[in-house]
Amino acid sequence: MANVYEALAEIVGKEYVSDQPEELFFYSRDPGTMDPKKPDYVVVPQSTEEVQAIVHLANREKIPVVPLGGGLVLSGLSRPLKGGIVLDMKRMNKIIEVNETSRYAVIEAGCAHGVFQAYLKQHYPNLKYSSPDAPPSATIAGNILIHGSGHMSQATGFHSEMLNGLEVVLPTGEVCKIGSCSTTPYWFSRAPLPDLAGLFVGWFGTTGVITKLGIKLYPNPAKKDMMIFLNDNPDHMTDILYKLTGTEMLEDLNVSCSALPAHMEGLQLLLIYITANSDEELELKRKFIRATLRSYVDSKDGGFMFIPGFAKGRFLEVPLREMTKYADTKKGGGFEYVGAIMPLELFSRAYRAGIEIAAKYNTPYSLAVRVIGRGHCMMFAYAYAFNRADDTDRLNAQRALHETNRRVLEMGGIPWKAEEPAQKLILEHMDPHTVQLMNKVRSALDPNGIMNPGNWEVK
Ligand SMILES: Cc1cc2nc3c(=O)[nH]c(=O)nc-3n(C[C@H](O)[C@H](O)[C@H](O)COP(=O)(O)OP(=O)(O)OC[C@H]3O[C@@H](n4cnc5c(N)ncnc54)[C@H](O)[C@@H]3O)c2cc1C
Repeated sequence: MANVYEALAEIVGKEYVSDQPEELFFYSRDPGTMDPKKPDYVVVPQSTEEVQAIVHLANREKIPVVPLGGGLVLSGLSRPLKGGIVLDMKRMNKIIEVNETSRYAVIEAGCAHGVFQAYLKQHYPNLKYSSPDAPPSATIAGNILIHGSGHMSQATGFHSEMLNGLEVVLPTGEVCKIGSCSTTPYWFSRAPLPDLAGLFVGWFGTTGVITKLGIKLYPNPAKKDMMIFLNDNPDHMTDILYKLTGTEMLEDLNVSCSALPAHMEGLQLLLIYITANSDEELELKRKFIRATLRSYVDSKDGGFMFIPGFAKGRFLEVPLREMTKYADTKKGGGFEYVGAIMPLELFSRAYRAGIEIAAKYNTPYSLAVRVIGRGHCMMFAYAYAFNRADDTDRLNAQRALHETNRRVLEMGGIPWKAEEPAQKLILEHMDPHTVQLMNKVRSALDPNGIMNPGNWEVK
């Protein structure tokens, strides 16, 4: 395939294509438990036209194309399961426009969270968007496309709900615009047109390459605070979350449950995030939240925790650096979690299952919840850190993840950003007509089957 290498070099320039073992080694794996899969080429394009030319070439040569953002999805979704070209989008990192009045931004698909956050802080401190706790090199596109969630998800829902529009290179090479930008110069919304974004969001790079996206921005109130409520009875948690989301006062609501450090075992820590435009408004919200959970405090079933100033600063960091530290507790950099999207009423079942599975696989349990929307659902994370240099440890984590995925589906949840074996489990549970529809969509968009083949195979 020497001619493919030459053709790619012609498109992006020799320094931005590689078939060398060092690069292929890195692009064949991610920090999760899945086995490495080697690409044949890694290409780093700089423009939509270059992406288009690569996709045309891949169609001619019938070779796979796998888009890659920050490569931090953890479930191996941008490992090239059938070889081919990994399309690293990181050079397409421009911030094209910020429309302050209509509160949206247009960015290229390789733009990382860290870069965009720093840009807003410097140029538009009155605006923000919802970002995940992923390391800052994760891309906004990669996160939105997988239905991620983050620091404003209680108020604004899944990150895919921030999406106003897309520019996408279809698997057959045409460049297509989705949302208001298809019809006007503005990227203000996906409505009132047919919502074609659904052909690309939640498909994990199997239906096209996103090159630009428009995202909603939100006011950034000057005051921020957080409160911690401690609870030790998982059966109370659904009601507590229901009550708190009912206040409509929170931006983010998390629950953290972990066997380590030992004094936290058996406790559920609720992290409640609020913002306001003045100290009075902040105090009013704090009072209201305390009143909402008063019955639990009065019955001594729970209580608010005093948080010293230095610790509060850590909790208010975006992204939470403590989270990244946890991801490396075993050293050796291995980390993966099942993020189960499920209704709030499953909290106690999901919690008990997590403790049981962790005990079975001889690992300290680490569970975390992020409430999405006004309690419309939650992302229930079962995290497994492992040492990547120790294959026994990696395979143990892989088995624990597989069992967790199975249990989540049995309970009535759906594993989020599922790794390849979990995709098969989900498809087994799915209505067969839905699977057929997915197959029709994918086959119609990608007749040569070049986009991220092996992932979400619905044929
Ligand atoms: C410590 C830690 C904390 C985390 N916390 C959170 C959290 O709070 N919330 C959360 O949502 N996630 C979290 N994550 C998970 C993950 O890192 C993020 O979701 C991240 O934003 C994924 O983005 P990425 O750029 O790394 O995507 P990638 O891994 O590069 O890609 C993800 C998927 O999207 C596809 N894709 C990427 N770019 C394109 C494109 N341009 N066109 C078409 N398809 C594309 C890829 O093929 C792949 O299937 C966390 C991860 C870690 C390690």
